[in-house]
Formats: sequence, structure tokens, C-alpha cells
Amino acid sequence: MNICVVGTGYVGLVTGACLADFGMNVICVDKDESKIDALKKGRIPIYEPGLEEIVAKNERAGRLVFTTDLKSGIERALAIFIAVGTPPNPDGSPDLTFVRQVAEAIAQHMNDYKVVVTKSTVPTGTGRMIEQILRSNDDERKFSVVSNPEFLREGSAISDFLRPDRIVIGASDARAIEVMKEIYSPLFLAETPFVITDVASAELIKYASNGFLAVKISFINEIARLCEVMGADVHDVSRGMGLDRRIGSRFLLAGPGFGGSCFPKDTAAAIDLARQHGERFRIIEAAVCVNSETKKRMIEKIAAAAEPLAGRTVAVLGLSFKPETDDIRESPALSVISDLLAAGASVRAFDPAAMENARSVFPQLYYAKDVYDCAQGADVLVIATEWNEFRALDFGKLARLMKAMTVVDLRNVYEPRELKAAGWSYTGVGRS
Ligand code: NAD
Repeated sequence: MNICVVGTGYVGLVTGACLADFGMNVICVDKDESKIDALKKGRIPIYEPGLEEIVAKNERAGRLVFTTDLKSGIERALAIFIAVGTPPNPDGSPDLTFVRQVAEAIAQHMNDYKVVVTKSTVPTGTGRMIEQILRSNDDERKFSVVSNPEFLREGSAISDFLRPDRIVIGASDARAIEVMKEIYSPLFLAETPFVITDVASAELIKYASNGFLAVKISFINEIARLCEVMGADVHDVSRGMGLDRRIGSRFLLAGPGFGGSCFPKDTAAAIDLARQHGERFRIIEAAVCVNSETKKRMIEKIAAAAEPLAGRTVAVLGLSFKPETDDIRESPALSVISDLLAAGASVRAFDPAAMENARSVFPQLYYAKDVYDCAQGADVLVIATEWNEFRALDFGKLARLMKAMTVVDLRNVYEPRELKAAGWSYTGVGRS
């Protein structure tokens, strides 16, 4: 089957490469010429473990091609996946300009029956909007609009796509469902659960899922705050809660608040969506409020550990919003850095993958060669992202390189007792 994936970002590129791996012929389209040029030359524009290999393998097999020519992609494909960005507007609603543009291009170039699939995260009602655009110049046209939200996580995107917990398909006709089942047949055969529903429910499943996960994160961050004032340890509280299978241990780790390209945007969109319908999504509103307070508390922790911050040198380990990605969108590390700079500190930073992206936001930082170069002469070491390589630091070496033995561990990577026993001043999150 011929498939066109529009948008070759984190979601589109992974979707295109993995669908090609399922045996589909995939045309990946992006309007960004530099991205497509890089991909044609075998360079992957993002850092995502395993992506380079799967792209190369399927390109070699002739199942995966890259182009900026949306018209030919539309004409040649039976199914067109829309995987463009849906960034937030200032009022929190998602900006659907790119989705609309792609739908208009499909309306213009549709030459046969098409299944138009939204992979982008879009509010309920977008499927209907796409349908209206596709109908706009010809009411007789045959097409189906499908919602197929994506749940992959950056950093483990390939395995998440190839081994998902479920596939959600929102469609209104049997023909489209058959096409979708054929596309995902390797997963169907592997007994991945399929949730087949209407378009509006599928669209809402994505916001409901991300909203719930955001609530879980804010819940444990609020527990962490209580632990600090009550003399408890959030690590143990979280473990004690998470072992209850009704609760589960995932997304129950205290830290500097949620970030990334999805949770902040999707929680804001869910709140806006409810508002548009005259309702309120109060639990998600609370999660967002706790999250912004959590982010603010991080600078207070660093200030308390190394007072006054003005004139101090702070070494920040980790810039991406989570490990194994170069994505810095809404990264808690960046809000910490911004607060540090505002307080008059100077910042040395290191990240295994995200330094190039961070440089465009904070050109004034010193970007280190490695962890130890970063720590050189610093008054305080801040662990902002829990990359594996930050989990076994040589604290003896760090003590010799740094001006003071102070660590602020925003990801609770280390055992407070051990570091304190070694003479370090240690601050974690929710670990009094
Ligand atoms: P991204 O910004 O990395 O990529 C989007 C791509 O779309 C860009 O390369 C851009 O050039 C391209 N594009 C925009 N308009 C276009 C057009 N008219 N024609 C062709 N290409 C166009 O975004 P992303 O992180 O891949 O997210 C895409 C969507 O998937 C969003 O709605 C997001 O919420 C959702 N999503 C993201 C993740 C994630 O972890 N990143 C996970 C699940 C869902």
C-alpha cells in the first residue's frame, strides 16, 4: 500500500520509517527543504535512538522516500497521515494552521479515494473540520477521515511505535477501518489491542491520556512538597503507592515538573477545549497550576543551597526535557537556567544531545565538553535531566574540580545519605 506522511518531525519521521518497516511504501513529505535535503543524504535531523538504522534500512529497501512535493505524495497514496505540528496559541488553544494547510492541499490534489489520517494531536472537532475542507470544492468526492492519535515517547519512539500499548482508530466507515487494519496488520497479528471508535472519541482519548499523566506527575510533585515539610521521603511514598497495581509506578517520580512538546501544550488545549464547550477541566487546571509552582520551586532550592546566587557559577547537567532526546521544548532545565541567569548566576551546561538546540536559546552559556568540564570551578552542580551517564558520576573527581561540594539533584538520581556521608551538601526533591 502507498502511504504519504506529511511532516517529518519526531512523530512523522518515526511513523514513516516504522510503517515502511511494516512493508508499506511510504513517501515522507515536509515543507522544510533543509530537513528533506538532510534526510536524502542519510542525515537524521533529530536525535532519537534507533531511528537512523530503521530509516537507512527502509530507504535501502526502496520503501521509504523523502520529498517536499506534497502534490505527488497525495496523488500516489491511498492513506495520507497528517503529522504536522499543532503548537499552542497564546490562549492555550492549539494552532491548527498547519493541519488546515495540509487538508487544503489534499482537497486540491485528491485524485481518487483517500483515507486522511490525523496523527497530530488535535482537539475534538478537527476531524469534522478536515471533512468540511475536503468537501469544499466537490461534494461527490470519496474519502474517509480517520483519527489515529500517537502515544510514542521521545527517546523510546521506535519501540513505542513498534510495540504500543494500544492502537486507537477513530473512523466513521468500514472501508477506512479495513485500510487502517491493513496498515497496522503486523501489530494486529501480534495481538496489540485495537480501540476502534468514532473520530471524536479517538481525538479525546489523546487529550484524556496526556491530561491524566500530567495529573499523575503533578500529584507526586505535590506529595514531594508535603514530604519536605513533614520530614518524609517521596521516593518511598511513591514506591509504596506505585506498587498498588490500581495506581502503578510509572509517571510517579517527583522532579522539576513536566515539560516537553506535549504535556504543557496538550493540558492547555484540554482546558481550552472544555472552555469552548462551556465546561471546565478543573483537575487538569490544578495539574497545570501545580506544575508551574513546581518549576518555580526549583530555583528556590538552588538559591537555598548556594546563597546568594548572584555571582555564583552553576553547572547544569541536562538540557533536554527528558533523557535520550535532543528536544528542549518546554524543558524544565531551560526554565531553571532562565531563572539562574535572572538571579545573576553564570551557567555552565552539558547535555549529551541537546546542546546545539539549547545554544539557539541561550547563546551566552558555556557549553562544556563533558560532565567534568562542566563542573570545573562551579559553586553548585544541578542535575536537571536524568541521562544515564549522570547516574554514576565520580564525586571524588567532582569535589576536586568544583569550588564547593554542593549538589542539587532535581531528578532524585542519587541517594541523599550516601552523598551527605561523603561530605556533600545534597538537595533533592521531596527528600527532606
Ligand atoms: P515537529 O515540530 O517535530 O514536526 C512537525 C513537522 O511538520 C516539521 O518538520 C514541519 O516542517 C512540518 N510541517 C508543518 N507544516 C507542514 C506542511 N504544511 N507541509 C509539510 N510539512 C509541514 O512536531 P512533532 O513533535 O513531530 O509533533 C507533531 C504532532 O504530533 C503534534 O501535534 C504533536 O502534539 C503530536 N505528538 C507529538 C509527540 C512527540 O513526542 N513529539 C507524541 C505524540 C504526538
